[in-house]
Amino acid sequence: MSTPFLSDSAPGWFRWLSRLVLRVGIWRAVAAITAVVAIAAVGLSQGVISVLGHGDRWIAFISASLCSVTLTPLLGSLILRLVFELDRAQKQLTILATQDDLTGVHNRRHFMAVVQREWDRARRYSTASALLLIDADHFKRVNDQHGHLCGDELLRAIAKSVGSSLRQADVLARFGGEELIVFLPHTDPLGALDVAERIRERVQALSVPWKGSTVSTTVSIGMAPMRDELPSLDWMIHEADTALYAAKSDGRNCVRTLPFEPSRSGGAFETHRR
Ligand code: GH3
Ligand code: MG
Ligand code: MG
Repeated sequence: MSTPFLSDSAPGWFRWLSRLVLRVGIWRAVAAITAVVAIAAVGLSQGVISVLGHGDRWIAFISASLCSVTLTPLLGSLILRLVFELDRAQKQLTILATQDDLTGVHNRRHFMAVVQREWDRARRYSTASALLLIDADHFKRVNDQHGHLCGDELLRAIAKSVGSSLRQADVLARFGGEELIVFLPHTDPLGALDVAERIRERVQALSVPWKGSTVSTTVSIGMAPMRDELPSLDWMIHEADTALYAAKSDGRNCVRTLPFEPSRSGGAFETHRR
């Protein structure tokens, strides 16, 4: 278990101890600390008597043990509770900062941070990768006809369906409104078109139960492959957006990409379309 609330400047032993405390749980940690403090207090009181050369060892033993087994759990549990609360708050904050509330997938900011690193690596080593922009078709109509809550439910279902079509290494996020974005590392253009087509088919097959009937939708997808000439991730997103625009113009519920092979220059070309 990590202790993200600890800054990097915290000493190694302190981080190790905090991790241990979080792992064993508050009550076991309190019991362990109490035992350590009791042994230390008894040892110290006996040591003081030895140094001074006089004093009642039994009274010292009893008072040291009593103080430590009553005060340590009180103070220890208070401090440890704070540690646990801090850890919980930090985890909650991390989720809020990286996740989209509605769909549970990454939010746009987190996507950009994560994918920028992947993108830089892919660009540097000329590794194939691709980007998909996925936009729900005529989503305004869904809201108008069935209500915003139904639209929300459908968006959640779309995100879940897209997520289940991806591999572990792929990065999915809500890019905005009814739009999702996917980065596919180590994926060549044809592989990316396959993934996009699979997503399109799965969303088309979705039907979400709503107030006694079912609601469904389709998506249009723009795909942009990694190219040596691409100056930035933003540029790649722009290319995917242009391809998405072509998909919308071509009637929606289809996948489009800009030409990615020299032999195929001359405008967006069609992949599978229903
Ligand atoms: P197109 O096929 O051209 O994309 O049509 P569209 O209606 O999907 O696109 P448009 O941009 O006209 O409208 C987007 C709609 O998506 C309108 C907006 O209310 C809806 N939308 C955006 N975010 C959410 C959301 O979080 N929940 C719901 N229910 N609807 C949303
Ligand atoms: Mg739309
Ligand atoms: Mg849109």
